[in-house]
Amino acid sequence: MPEAPQMQALAERIADWLVGATFEGYEPLGFSGLKTVSPAPEALVGAALVRVDRRAKYVTLQFDNDLRVMFHLSQAGRLDFESPPKKTRPKGAVVRWRFSGDRAVLLREFGTERKAGWWVLGVDEAGPVENIGPEATSEAFATWVRSSDDGRRIHTILRDQRTVAGVGRGYADDILHRAKLSPYASLKSLDADERERLLGALHEVLDEGLERERKRTGGLSENKLGEHFTVHGKAGLPCPVCGADLKRVSYESHEVVYCPTCQTGGKVLADRRLSRLVK
Ligand SMILES: [Zn+2]
Repeated sequence: MPEAPQMQALAERIADWLVGATFEGYEPLGFSGLKTVSPAPEALVGAALVRVDRRAKYVTLQFDNDLRVMFHLSQAGRLDFESPPKKTRPKGAVVRWRFSGDRAVLLREFGTERKAGWWVLGVDEAGPVENIGPEATSEAFATWVRSSDDGRRIHTILRDQRTVAGVGRGYADDILHRAKLSPYASLKSLDADERERLLGALHEVLDEGLERERKRTGGLSENKLGEHFTVHGKAGLPCPVCGADLKRVSYESHEVVYCPTCQTGGKVLADRRLSRLVK
């Protein structure tokens, strides 16, 4: 799933490519990805794009008539830059936005989740980010981590967008590996040093992720985006720090990957799926 570093770098590439361009129209292509009724997207026609921002895992296109387009890629959403615009309707296509200068942006989704979407918002409308927590690298989140007695597991906290914005399962695995903390440790069980380690690792991993993402060009088209993770998705491979086998805990929709030597004092966490298989 695209997380804050991917979406931040994508917002920067859209800005480089399209700021100053005029919105010329849109083509709804597949399932209903448009999440708002009013203002209508037609109200964007003729407006110039002035800025592109990111908040959490959402990118915002700000136009000079005070309207904004916000979009979210969810698990499997992707974005293609097209110049000249294509006429095709690829599988999973959601919408194509046409801009001046013979350019277009295609929002699409592979797979069947149909969770990618877009919003057209007026000046005072927060849209889908209304109840989202502070950015992961913000001072507000650091202050909260230092003082909270939240009893949830830190892996869960990092992925909860109402608590902290922009981190998903990929960077959550890598952050906890870098911090040498168990994904199952609760925040309230961490002492002050461990909390600083968590914050330090979070900043390092997200900064490095952004650096890497800034080397990408064009949209965000590749089906697989996660090859660069340190431990996420790499269960069974050697830990890059100590060489021990990385382990996983499997859930319905995702898995948590960790190093028992670096993170859990050698303890292998129960994997329900695995224990079912063994029985
Ligand atoms: Zn290790």
